[in-house]
Amino acid sequence: MINKIDHLGIAVASLEEAGRVYRDMGFAYCGNEAVTEQGVNVSFFEVGESHIELLEPLGEDSPIAKFLAKRGPGIHHICVEVDDIDEALTRYREAGVTLINKQPVLGAGGCRVAFVHPKSTFGVLLELKEKAR
Ligand code: ZN
Repeated sequence: MINKIDHLGIAVASLEEAGRVYRDMGFAYCGNEAVTEQGVNVSFFEVGESHIELLEPLGEDSPIAKFLAKRGPGIHHICVEVDDIDEALTRYREAGVTLINKQPVLGAGGCRVAFVHPKSTFGVLLELKEKAR
């Protein structure tokens, strides 16, 4: 059901600045995208079969703006790829896991994603991403 770590999300104040640093460190850049539904601009860098996702807030009320104000830049979430996100959410609900998204929402690349509350995952915001069909 859970295939792999799809990406690690890192909150940054500036994609331009952070992107340059990651490129300088040898990470292969693979694209940029505004995900307005989530209030973020994102850049992806390839790491084997996984990615690093840099997240920059699109505005003041972006969840990333709040995260940066509270904690500064750093790891924001871990994303795992699942085969069937509806099945995963049903299973998690039945297990009493606290979900931020009870239904899948639109994430980067048009994928269906849902976030699990850190209080159910020992302090780590977990993103589920459905495998592209
Ligand atoms: Zn993500």
